[in-house]
Amino acid sequence: MTNALSGKVLVIGAGGVSHAAVHKMAMNSDIFTDITLASRRISSCEAIAASVLERTGVTIKTAQVDGDDVAATAALIRETGAELLINLALPYQDLHLMDACLEAGCHYIDTANYEPPEEAKFEYHWQWAYQDKFKEAGLSAVLGSGFDPGVTSVFATWIRKHKLDTIRQIDILDCNGGNNGQAFATNFNPEINIREVTAPARHWENGDWVESPAMTTKVEFDFDGVGPKNMYLMYHEELESMKTHFPEIERARFWMTFGDEYIKHVTVLENIGMTSIEPVMYEGKEIIPLQFLKAVLPNPGDLGALTKGKTNIGDIITGEKDGVEKTYYINNICDHEVCYAEVGSQAVSYTTGVPAMIGAAMMIKGIWLDAGVWNTEQLDPDAFMDMLNEHGLPWNVVELDGPVDF
Ligand code: NDP
Repeated sequence: MTNALSGKVLVIGAGGVSHAAVHKMAMNSDIFTDITLASRRISSCEAIAASVLERTGVTIKTAQVDGDDVAATAALIRETGAELLINLALPYQDLHLMDACLEAGCHYIDTANYEPPEEAKFEYHWQWAYQDKFKEAGLSAVLGSGFDPGVTSVFATWIRKHKLDTIRQIDILDCNGGNNGQAFATNFNPEINIREVTAPARHWENGDWVESPAMTTKVEFDFDGVGPKNMYLMYHEELESMKTHFPEIERARFWMTFGDEYIKHVTVLENIGMTSIEPVMYEGKEIIPLQFLKAVLPNPGDLGALTKGKTNIGDIITGEKDGVEKTYYINNICDHEVCYAEVGSQAVSYTTGVPAMIGAAMMIKGIWLDAGVWNTEQLDPDAFMDMLNEHGLPWNVVELDGPVDF
C-alpha cells in the first residue's frame, strides 16, 4: 500500500515521551521518511538525536522553537516541508500548535488534551471547537494518541466492533508496578502528573458526572504481571470523550494505582501548598509552587535506568452481545527494563510514545486521515491494534465471569 502522506514529520517537544516515540519512528523509516525534532531547548533535541543515531543509525534533524509562538512554528512547518506535526510537548501548547498547523496546512496529532496553564481543567471543548476549521482546511487532527488516553479508547472501540453490540460500563485500570528506588518521583512530567492526581475525582454515571474528593475511593486489584495494588478513582480526559462517542455508556470510571509512599508525599506537599498553581511572591519574584516543585523533583526521563517492574493498563468492559450480557478485560503488560534496553526509556514514556508513533503512522498511511478533529475511539481500531502487537505493546483479551464487583 502506498502511503497517503510523504512521511515528513515535525515532532514538537523533546522530553520523556518524545524520546521513546522518536526512537520508534526512526525504527520505522519506511513510514517516517524525514524526521525533524524541535523543542524549546535545542539541547533536549540534540540529546535524543544522538541516541537515535547510536541506536538505529538514522539521522534526524533538530530545531529550536517555542511551540507557543504560532508564527514561528508555522514557519518551521513550511521550512521542513512537514505534512504532520506530532505534538509531544505539554498540554499547554495544544491550541497554539493546532493554530500553527492550520496556518501552514499541516495535519496534527497529540497525546493529551489542552489545559489552560492557570487552571487545572481537563476538558476537550477547546480542541473540539477546532472541528470546522480543520474540516474546512481539509486537515486532520487526532487527539490523545498515547496509552491513556489513546490505546484505552482504541481498545474500547475494538471491543465494540468485534465483541459487543453496546458498551454499558467501562473501567479503565492503569497500574504502574515499577519501582525506581526514589522516595518520591513522578513517572511523567511532574507538573502535569500532580495537577492530574490532586484534581477532584469524577466519573460518569447514569447521564451525569459524579464528583468526589481526590484520592478517596480506593480498591485493591490483583494485576497480572504485577500483583495486588491499591488503585484510586480519578478523573481522566478519555471519560469525557468516551461518554460522548459511546452515548449508551451508563458508567465510565478511571482508576490508577499509587503506593502508600506516593500518597503520603502528595498529601504532605498538598497540605503545605507546594502543589498550588497560584503564583506567590518569593524574594521579589513571582513563582508558582508546583513549577518550583517540578524543578527539585527527579526528571522522569532520567529514571529509565533505575526502574524495574511492569505496567499493566487496560479496560474492563461490560455490554451486550445478541441480547446476552458479557464482560471483557483487554490490556497490555509492559516491562520497564525491556523498554529501557530497546529505546532507553522507562515503560510510562514507552507506553505513551509507541501509540503516538502508531497514531502518526495511521495518519501517514491514510487510514486515519479524514478531515476534522477526532478522538481515537472514533477511528477504525483494527490496523492500530495490529501495530500495537508488532511494535512492542502486545495486548491480551479475556472474557470475565461477570461485571466488576467494585
Ligand atoms: P516532559 O516534561 O518530559 O517533556 C515535555 C517537552 O516539551 C520538553 O522537552 C519541553 O521542552 C517541551 N516543551 C515545553 N514547553 C514547550 C514550548 N512552549 N515549546 C516547545 N517545546 C516545549 O513531558 P513528558 O514527555 O512526560 O510528556 C509529554 C506529553 O505527553 C504531555 O503532554 C503529557 O501530558 C503527555 N502524556 C500522555 C500520556 C498518555 O498516555 N496519553 C501519558 C504520559 C504523558 P525542553 O526540554 O526543550 O525545555
